[in-house]
Amino acid sequence: MSIETQIAENYQRILDRAASAARRGQRSPDDLRVVAVTKYVSAEWTQLLAEAGCQDMGESRPQQLWDKSQRLAHWPDLRWHMIGHLQRNKVDRTLLCGSKIHSVDSPRLMHAIEAAACKLHLAPVSALLEINISGEIQKHGLQPKELPAVIDLLTEMHHVAIGGLMGMASPVDDERELRAQFRSLRDLRDKYHSTMPPGHALRELSMGMSGDFELAIEEGATLVRVGSALFEGCQEQ
Ligand SMILES: *Cc1c(COP(=O)(O)O)cnc(C)c1O
Repeated sequence: MSIETQIAENYQRILDRAASAARRGQRSPDDLRVVAVTKYVSAEWTQLLAEAGCQDMGESRPQQLWDKSQRLAHWPDLRWHMIGHLQRNKVDRTLLCGSKIHSVDSPRLMHAIEAAACKLHLAPVSALLEINISGEIQKHGLQPKELPAVIDLLTEMHHVAIGGLMGMASPVDDERELRAQFRSLRDLRDKYHSTMPPGHALRELSMGMSGDFELAIEEGATLVRVGSALFEGCQEQ
């Protein structure tokens, strides 16, 4: 099978699995978007995904996001998602790529995005607050107990528009544990959504990856970030 066909089939299979998971969770598949994580592959393979109909591309390293978004600039209507840790000195270029930032993991980064979007005269930058739901200390993300104080800061933020929460579950196989972590993110959203100042909201939940995206959808994910499963069966480049 050609790489084109393989990638198109993989993408379609992920969409089908995502839609089934949404139905199992009594949710509409329309409330859900699959972000294709392209960090493992070249711009050429990323374009094959675009040809297969995917419009949402995610990268975890700023430099790769800049490069790929530039190389695919001719492709209409692609949306870029920054899903990994973003250093403050890389904020300007990342915002200029028009990316949504899933990984706002500190007040300092949030202030840096606010300042950069103001300076660059951008429309409010859509972003998510990353929460450490696994409890692993080496992982990025705000602690759940920091969330109220961060929400208070948002009254001063007019160039960044927080739209929800992002989280990464522990790399475990235990379905109960994974569900508990996803549910903890949903519970935070439900607890704090009514406290959001104007211009901000807690609506989206970015959670779930190749190994656990169906569970995440059943537990309420609105954005899943799927990488390796899209490239199964594609030979190494
Ligand atoms: C790499 C990555 C993913 C995708 O992981 P897969 O297991 O390959 O689907 C999702 N989210 C983040 C933050 C990542 O860095």
